[in-house]
Amino acid sequence: MAKGLLIVLSGPSGVGKGTVCTELRRRMPELVYSVSATTRGPRLGEENGVNYFFKTREQFLEMIEKDQLLEHAEYVGNFYGTPRDFVEQTLESGKDIILEIEVQGALKVKEKFPEGVFVFLLPPSLDELKGRIQGRGTESQATIDHRLSVAAYEIGLLEKYDYAVVNDEIDLACKRIESIIVAEHCKVKNK
Ligand code: 5GP
Repeated sequence: MAKGLLIVLSGPSGVGKGTVCTELRRRMPELVYSVSATTRGPRLGEENGVNYFFKTREQFLEMIEKDQLLEHAEYVGNFYGTPRDFVEQTLESGKDIILEIEVQGALKVKEKFPEGVFVFLLPPSLDELKGRIQGRGTESQATIDHRLSVAAYEIGLLEKYDYAVVNDEIDLACKRIESIIVAEHCKVKNK
């Protein structure tokens, strides 16, 4: 059986990765979502095992030590990582899986899965991104400033990706990503 596609959706904080991912999963129920582990505390409405596996620093370090993570990265003072087994088993079973992760982690995944499909979600502009991060209202000013400086760095790594998708409107951004997935399935590989 053919393996599934590994799709990595990445891009700066506040660009709307989470919203786009949720909408994509609604439109493509066959697409499996990788739930990450993190040491960040849950935001209002977030559930353990659904949005993230919420871990203590000790538990997270143990996962690293036991090689249970496909990649991990420290982002604005917290650890985030992708549980390895779930991704590998999903791909083996022929299903597509999407990872919504930041840039450092995405580049590590690319080393291990160069055949993956790497999609970078862009804001319509940096000003728009600033507004979205501030508008979320869940972070302190210091965290917002930190996320903005990381965002500028992350956008500089765009050229490492296969596709750039502007998130000007959720519907359009999702349509573009759906088209990419369809095209990847039609691709004649190893030419
Ligand atoms: P947030 O705290 O806003 O949920 O996520 C912060 C950043 O961490 C976002 O850019 C998000 O995509 C990224 N992230 C979430 N899960 C993972 C993961 O498993 N690995 C990596 N490297 N980044 C992740």
